Formats: sequence, structure tokens, C-alpha cells
Amino acid sequence: MIRALEALERLREGNRRFVANVRGDNALTSQNRRNELVAGQEPFAIILGCSDSRVPAEIVFDQHLGDLFVIRVAGNIVAPSKVGSVEFAVDRYGTRLVVVLGHSMCGAVQATLEELERSTDNRSPNLSSIVDRIRPSVEGLLETRHQPGTDLLLEQAIRANIRASADHLRHGSQLLEQYILQDGLLVVGAEYSLESGTVDFFDGLPPSA
Ligand SMILES: [Zn+2]
Repeated sequence: MIRALEALERLREGNRRFVANVRGDNALTSQNRRNELVAGQEPFAIILGCSDSRVPAEIVFDQHLGDLFVIRVAGNIVAPSKVGSVEFAVDRYGTRLVVVLGHSMCGAVQATLEELERSTDNRSPNLSSIVDRIRPSVEGLLETRHQPGTDLLLEQAIRANIRASADHLRHGSQLLEQYILQDGLLVVGAEYSLESGTVDFFDGLPPSA
């Protein structure tokens, strides 16, 4: 089993390679590696990321087959099936690091802010289920701190949404809570910058990380 802080360091190193445009080991996607993985997997991190085409977890962390257990959904929201997916990987594969990976200019968060500013009645119920999950973490910002439609508001809303998702994973599942308390599971929040390619782990890190 790979411990949480070691996993975090692997992700940081991979992201540094990605930013520097230095690719990792191609052997890790070879036929040999595929054959090895037929017998089983031990992904070292779970990533709950946004579906945005510009933020594929394996690429921005320069990882390969069998490395990451990835859940992607617009706005990196935490719905019951997402919690279940995380529980599954933690329990079955022994993965001890969960990263909620949001990103700058997130369209799902932007759409939520627009909805709060001017509600639309013709949104599909399925799309509403995403907006409705982002809404609670960002509507406070709209009321108290910022002018609507500003970049600063969007930036703050993106981080608030990442924090809320990470928090939901930490406290919305008895199973995960138990792993956190007793078995070294770590849930952190991170933001990928479309502009620079860097991932900033800004939420939930222990002091030693
Ligand atoms: Zn997004």
C-alpha cells in the first residue's frame, strides 16, 4: 500500500514533469505493463475531477496505466455515486489519497453563478442536478463579497466548490471517515491552472505536506 503523503509527492512530481514538458516513462504504457495489470491494480491515488476536456488527470499528473482511479463529472461535484466510487477504491485497492481536482475557468461553476444571478426555467433536470450541488458552496460569496460577473468571484467560487466537495467526501461517508481516522486516508482539494498547467494543492494538507 502506498501511503497518502508518498502518493501526494508522486502527483506533485508528475505535475512538475508535465509543466516542464518532460514526459515520464513510456514503458509504463507498454504491452508488458498491460499484461501485468490484467492480474490486478493498485492505483496510488483517487482523483475526483471535472469532466473538462482540458484537465485529464492522467496527463496533467503524467501518470500511466494502473496509476490513478479517476472519477470525472462536470464541476467535480460529490453525488452519492461519486462517494460510492471513492469508497470502492479505498476499500478494494487500498488507495489512501483522494484528490478533488477543480480547475480555473470551470464552466460548471460559471454556469452556477449565472444561474444564481439570473435563474432560468428551461434547464434540464439532469443539468440542474449538477448546478444544485454547486450552488450551496458558492451562493454565500455572491451575497456578501463580490460583484456578480467578475473574475475574482469565479476564482473564489471554484475554490469554494472544491473545498465543499472535499469536505463532503471527508464527512459524508461513515466508511471514509473511519479510514481517515484509523487508516491514514487523506482527502485533499487541488486546483489546476489552465494557464500555467500547475496543480495547487490548497485544501486539507497536513502541516508536514
Ligand atoms: Zn470544470
